[in-house]
Amino acid sequence: MIENEKASLSIKRIAGIAILLIFICGVGVMAANVKVNHVKIVLSNHYEMNVLTTKTKVSDILEESHVALLPEENVVPNMDSQISENRTITITKTLEEGQDVIKLAEANSEVSMEQLLGDYTPVIEKVITETVEIPFETITKDSSGIDGTSKILTKGKNGLKEITYRAKFKNNIEMERTVLSETIIKNPVNQVVQVNKKTVTSRSSVERTASTNPATTSANHLAQKVAGKTPMVKNFNTSAYCACVKCCGKTNGITSSGVKASSWCTLAAGKAYPVGTIIYIPALSNKPNGGWFIVQDRGGAISNNKLDVYMGTHSQALQFGRKNLECYVYYM
Ligand SMILES: [Zn+2]
Repeated sequence: MIENEKASLSIKRIAGIAILLIFICGVGVMAANVKVNHVKIVLSNHYEMNVLTTKTKVSDILEESHVALLPEENVVPNMDSQISENRTITITKTLEEGQDVIKLAEANSEVSMEQLLGDYTPVIEKVITETVEIPFETITKDSSGIDGTSKILTKGKNGLKEITYRAKFKNNIEMERTVLSETIIKNPVNQVVQVNKKTVTSRSSVERTASTNPATTSANHLAQKVAGKTPMVKNFNTSAYCACVKCCGKTNGITSSGVKASSWCTLAAGKAYPVGTIIYIPALSNKPNGGWFIVQDRGGAISNNKLDVYMGTHSQALQFGRKNLECYVYYM
């Protein structure tokens, strides 16, 4: 009995093993008929996945591996393709704006990256107030002095003003400036300079230097005084006067210089000819003093172009009349 039981168990075991073997062999045959591929999937973040799959269409492989494409992603080869021989599926992102700029910069070698990035440097606006000096002006006043010098009458002082402006800066460099307002804090003071111009009295325009000196050949006492001097020659409108009331409004014959007038010697002349100036009148060389005269008097009607010769009587003066005479003037 026991032997029979053992035999039946053994038959069941053999049958079970046989069935198991048949099943395993069946799977093996199936596996041999379906091709299994090794596929590499490269994600857009460069992460790589290696998968084993029996699928061959890109969309199917991705679906099986739970890889979903984002809207901005591309896949190579495309979703409907069968996987190529290298068995790699690459997912990339569509270019972003910044990457576009970089690509553009690389493509155009004449535009540097720094320049392109520089365009993105922010512009900073500042409102600035500055105090600036206002330079003074110089005003010249002419004066009829005789020394040709000048002097400062009022010293110039710079003024001050406040300027407010808006400036645009890029990389700390001022690009643009717009003045908003200007306020004068202190007005400048003009400098006033007096220039003493060398003025020439009216006499010199008609005077000329004499080529001869009559004083060197005369024994007259006035001529002796000026023998070493060079005379100036000038024509004078010459008349005569005496010590009468008609001529002088008085009768004492005292000149304005205080000395008593002498006939054919005393001259009344304009203020350009100081008292003591000796004048030789060639046309009167045949007269008592040999034509030598000295300025001793003035007269209300005696301008710088006129001479009045003093004479002893009124009739003589009238007879002399008025003449344009060449005269030699010796400035003392
Ligand atoms: Zn008179």
